[in-house]
This record gives sequence, structure tokens and C-alpha cells, in this order.
Amino acid sequence: MGSPNVVLVTVDCLRRDRISAYGHERRTTPFIDSLLDRALHCTSAHSVSSWTCPAVVSLQSGLYPHRHGGGLVPGEPKNLSKHNLPTTTPSDIPLLSDLLGARGYATAAVGAIWNAHLSLPGRFGHMVMLEKSAPKVLRRAERWMRAQDGPFFLWLHLGDAHEPLNVPRRMWNAFGDVPRLPNVRRWDFTKSGADVESEAFARYRDARVRLYDVAIRAVDATIADLWSALESAGLRERTVLVLTSDHGEEFWEHREEELRDFTDPRDVYGVGHGHNLFQVHTLVPLIVCGPGIPAREIRNNVSLVDVFPTVLEAAGMDGPEGDGRSLLGREEERPVLSEGIAYGFEKRSVVLGDRKLLSSPGDGYERVFGLGPDRQEVGVIEDPAETERLRRHLPGESSVVGEQVEATEEILEHLRGLGYIE
Ligand SMILES: [Zn+2]
Repeated sequence: MGSPNVVLVTVDCLRRDRISAYGHERRTTPFIDSLLDRALHCTSAHSVSSWTCPAVVSLQSGLYPHRHGGGLVPGEPKNLSKHNLPTTTPSDIPLLSDLLGARGYATAAVGAIWNAHLSLPGRFGHMVMLEKSAPKVLRRAERWMRAQDGPFFLWLHLGDAHEPLNVPRRMWNAFGDVPRLPNVRRWDFTKSGADVESEAFARYRDARVRLYDVAIRAVDATIADLWSALESAGLRERTVLVLTSDHGEEFWEHREEELRDFTDPRDVYGVGHGHNLFQVHTLVPLIVCGPGIPAREIRNNVSLVDVFPTVLEAAGMDGPEGDGRSLLGREEERPVLSEGIAYGFEKRSVVLGDRKLLSSPGDGYERVFGLGPDRQEVGVIEDPAETERLRRHLPGESSVVGEQVEATEEILEHLRGLGYIE
């Protein structure tokens, strides 16, 4: 058999705990659930960051953000704004698209969230940004796949679960009635003064979370369609499929702590992503299946940087030594890192075994948490030796800083639409 195709699907903002097979109360992901039996899947996979730009560059480069220079906003406190746009990945940092491309793969990135391509201009043979629903994005990708007559690498980035939620009208009430409240597709009750004791808040939160789950259900159906499309084109047996997310999403779980312990230049607390590195922001699903990939569950802590060496190994190729470890190799516990936020003082975290250190020097914050069976923080551990042991693994200062993206009206308009800037 020749080189396998590689299809990498990233579902923006998909929390690991929203996969119904991992215990979510609503049946959000029947197709993904059905895939797990024949896939390698990681139940404690962490994003390298909590927002799109640095996370997707780490996926593509196998390097942590402080080593790839893509997506960091220079200066502290950080505040992604029209005066402070992300940076691009220097061209001498090899990406999956470069290495696979050099081996004769055709490469394409088809995305639905503007941020996903911002740090990677021109780094794929074909790049399309469509701010559309998953079925439309998939249709465009299918057209490109059909036109290939050799091996290909397709990166599909779906944006339906990202603000503003993209939910098909016929599915709006799929998980019970969702009232059409103002801002239900965006965010509300985000400011420090929001009345989160009110009835109105309880009603809003229920509707917002329910609708997010519907968005995930719709994306799951599109991924099933992608699977069928590969099957009917006779490509499924020759294609490695990687399914993951760039980061999670917060639904007010840490609002109180964030208000008390952290500063956000936007005065936004407890929602969304890009502002902190709690487990709700960093835990993502990570599923790989295809030729030569053994079906198994990996419970060790792993990272999005592991996708790079995994894909290269699945394609029968060697790559540069990076920060990741191939998931096809021996299972080994190691510290996994997250860093590079978009709002507030720079935060860094390290997860090792059932412990997590979260550090934000600008906020005067450093805390060690235990992680429970659901991999969420459960209680603070006050043990200086443990803090010191974890602190040693924290990422260092940035050794690479890319060039800042120029603020064109087009870019600003898209970032405003996604709620990133005012
Ligand atoms: Zn994202």
C-alpha cells in the first residue's frame, strides 16, 4: 500500500466531556462514540493553549507555543485587539503540510474560524476560509479531495460550536426547548457585575449550554458524513483520520475564582476561552483511526503536540525532534504543558499524573490542584515540595516570536464577528 491520506478534523471549542461516550448526559456524539471501538483514543488529552492560534500551530508543528512563535500576542497583560493581532509562524518552522508536501502529498486547509488560518498564511497548497456551517465546509473539502489523484493531507477546521453558535434550525430543540433569548448564540452574563444569582441567569445558562450541545450534535452528524464520503470514494481504508479540538470552553465553572484571583482587560469572567488554563479550557478529545493504527484507549496525559509525530509515523515518515511523542509508541507518563493565552496576564500550566500546577505570575497566582477521575480540578494541594517538583517543568520564555499579522479591515471584521475584539 502506498502512503495513506491524512484527514485532520479539529472541532473548535469541543470540550472532552461533551463526548457522550465519555459520560455526557446528552447524546451529543453518537457517531464519534461509534468510532471509539476501532480507534486509538486518549481520555486525558490537553491542548497546549486555550485559544485557536497557538493551538493549531502546535498541532501542525509538534512544538509548544513558546517554541513556534505563532499566535502569541506580544506584551503583558495580553489583550487580543485591533492594535495587538496574533503573530505568524516563521517559515523555517516545519509543519505537517511542509513535510507531507515534500513527500508528494497534496495539502489543503479548509476552515470555518478565521483565527485558525491567521498564523499560518500560505502554509498549505490550498487554503480556504469559509465562515459557514460544517456541512458547507465539508462539501468544499470533498470537492478538493475528489480532485486529488495522489495522497493528500486535508485539515478541516469546523466552527459551529464557537460563538456565534451555528445550529441548524430543525435541530434547535434537539435536546429540549431552547428559548430564543437575546445573545443565546453568543455570550451574556460575562462581566464582573453580572447578576449570576438571578433567575434570568439560570435560564440563560441552561439555554446557552443546551444550544452548545446541539451544535456538537450537528457537527457529529457532519463527521459521520465525512466518514461515509471517504467510504463511498473507496478511501476509508487508505486514510488516517485524526479528530480533536483546539481547546475547550468555559461555562461559568471558574467564574468566582477568576474574579477573585485573575485580571482580564475585557472585564470578562467565567466564559469562553483564551483567558485561562483550567481543565475546562484545555481538555479535548483526541481520536486517531486508520490503517496501521491499533484500537486502544490511552489514559496517560497526552498533548496536542503529539499529533505531529503520530501523523508522520502513520505516514511512514521521520520528522524533526519536537515536543511531541507519537501515540503509536510506548505509553509513558510525562508532563504536558499549556500556555499562551489571549487575555490577561500570561498563564502557564503543567499536568503530571493526577496533579496540575497553574501559574500566573502577573496575577501573583500559583496553585497546585489534584485532578479527579473526570480530570477536573478537585481541591488545592498545599505542599511546597510538590509545587517545586511541578514548577520545574513549566515552559520557559518564548524563544521564537513570529511577525505580527497586519490589521486589514477584512481581518478585523472577522475577528469582531467571532467576539475576539471589539
Ligand atoms: Zn478555537
